Amino acid sequence: MHIVMFGPPGAGKGTQAGLLKDRLNFAYIATGDLFRKHMKEQTELGQLARTYIDRGDLVPDELTIEMLKNEMAKYPDVPGIIFDGFPRTTVQAEALEKMLHDQGDKIDAVLALEVPEDVLISRILNRGKTSGRSDDAERSTVVKRLQKYRELTEPLKDYYRRKNVLNVINGLQDIETVHNDILQALENVVRQ
Ligand code: AMP
Repeated sequence: MHIVMFGPPGAGKGTQAGLLKDRLNFAYIATGDLFRKHMKEQTELGQLARTYIDRGDLVPDELTIEMLKNEMAKYPDVPGIIFDGFPRTTVQAEALEKMLHDQGDKIDAVLALEVPEDVLISRILNRGKTSGRSDDAERSTVVKRLQKYRELTEPLKDYYRRKNVLNVINGLQDIETVHNDILQALENVVRQ
């Protein structure tokens, strides 16, 4: 089973993916975490990615897809994978679909967390006080990330709606309630 945790920055994707992966024993791949690891280790990819991430831009598709492929290859025998922060563009969604198709798999569920923008901005700026993430610190960078989300990533909702795998979840509720809504949505997927 392959699950995409979808939504704008600050919607709670990481928190919810964490709860879900512990429950399901799935692999968890968060492209943002992978980029941060590369940046910390100052790899060539990390140094390149930083120039985009610090500005609030997306890292180019080619680099991101290559990194994801390498990461997926580490989990050949897991019952499922939870993708967090990937795909973020149509090119990435199509690449993921092809990769999974080539191994006889597909995306089974997209869990789209929805939260109003004003709440997202204050959540991220608040997180920035302790996360040490440069892209969480400045309001202008946060606003740009949200713009990029609206422009490049949000259209994927329609892409996945057409494929009948989109589940919209109210991300404004408390963590436990969101988690329960996610479990409910996944139960419906399993029953289908
Ligand atoms: P995140 O931790 O998911 O908020 O990601 C932090 C930053 O990493 C994003 O603002 C992007 O610059 C970059 N990033 C993470 N995932 C992707 C992706 N799938 N495509 C392009 N850039 C990404």
